[in-house]
Amino acid sequence: MSGLALNSVTKQFGPFTAVDHVELSVPHGTFVCLLGPSGCGKTTLLRMIAGLDSPTNGAIVLDGKDITQVPTHKRDLGMVFQSLALFPHLTVGENIAYPLRIRGIGREEQVKRVDELLAMIHLTGYADRPVHKLSGGQRQRVAIARALAISPKLFLLDEPLSALDAKLREAMQVELRKLQQQLGITTIVVTHDQREAMTMADTVVVMNGGKIRQAASPIEIYRKPADRFVADFIGSTNLLPLTVQGNTALVLGHAVAGISAPSGQGQASLSVRPEDVKLAAPGEGRITGKVTFIRDLGGTIETFLDVAGTEVVAVSTPRERPVVTVGQDVGIVIDPETAVVLSA
Ligand code: ATP
Repeated sequence: MSGLALNSVTKQFGPFTAVDHVELSVPHGTFVCLLGPSGCGKTTLLRMIAGLDSPTNGAIVLDGKDITQVPTHKRDLGMVFQSLALFPHLTVGENIAYPLRIRGIGREEQVKRVDELLAMIHLTGYADRPVHKLSGGQRQRVAIARALAISPKLFLLDEPLSALDAKLREAMQVELRKLQQQLGITTIVVTHDQREAMTMADTVVVMNGGKIRQAASPIEIYRKPADRFVADFIGSTNLLPLTVQGNTALVLGHAVAGISAPSGQGQASLSVRPEDVKLAAPGEGRITGKVTFIRDLGGTIETFLDVAGTEVVAVSTPRERPVVTVGQDVGIVIDPETAVVLSA
């Protein structure tokens, strides 16, 4: 296969397993985000792909070639790691040309390539500027250009946008994704920000405890989370207790048409996104809750309900705004198409 394959990649630090038998295939030209909470092993996994750490077990294969033992500088990588900052005493152009210079590329070719890369990152004319005179976002773009100078096979980034303020960060996410699509370069980004992952990735890889919990497209991760951890980690969701009585599944004590009992025994829950909880008049055997709080955010309205001790959150838009007030009893309608049964 052309692209990257991780075969049972494991990393132990003494008795502690930081990355646990990770299997992943990244087809050529795709954009993958490694996403998960702090300490889940995403940086360790990226460092192994980069050759900065070696796996305790398993193999890393790039374009069909086992590179597990190949040193970093021979892996044909572009890297933007927090620890690999720009050289502050060099200009923008000198920074971008650096990887070309150490590979012995001629002066003329260097200038040509730097100009191309500056155009690509929308900083044409900045070659002679000292990097300390750039804004945070500009500096990050220069770091990206430097990493891409040698046209690497694989582009690896560790929390590349974490130092930027929220607005710039969002703009850079779109820019980075467009750049990746334009170049068709296989890219792996570590992030702990799920919005960032959803914006950029073809495949979001959700990790926890050194293991991959789910690897799928952003929309599949959101709509069909594999387990409670993924459902809870990606966006916000209502995890409603699901009990089984005979062959009937009860959601918050009510049978909901279209929701069937999970196979096997044990506890289960129903994941329903807040935007999929519809409010209605109480009655008709509906699940009923009491409104405890309303948060009007302008673009969306969040209604918090108490259903026999369980909190349920519904999100609606001002247009479909239900006229409810705190203290009122409200019916809750769950569309089985939008709900996912998850075992404990
Ligand atoms: P963060 O988002 O906080 O950077 P992460 O998901 O990138 O987290 P890693 O940095 O990969 O997590 O670390 C995974 C686990 O491995 C952590 O518990 C960490 O303490 C441990 N770990 C990482 N590097 C080492 C090391 N060199 N020696 C011992 N333990 C390590």
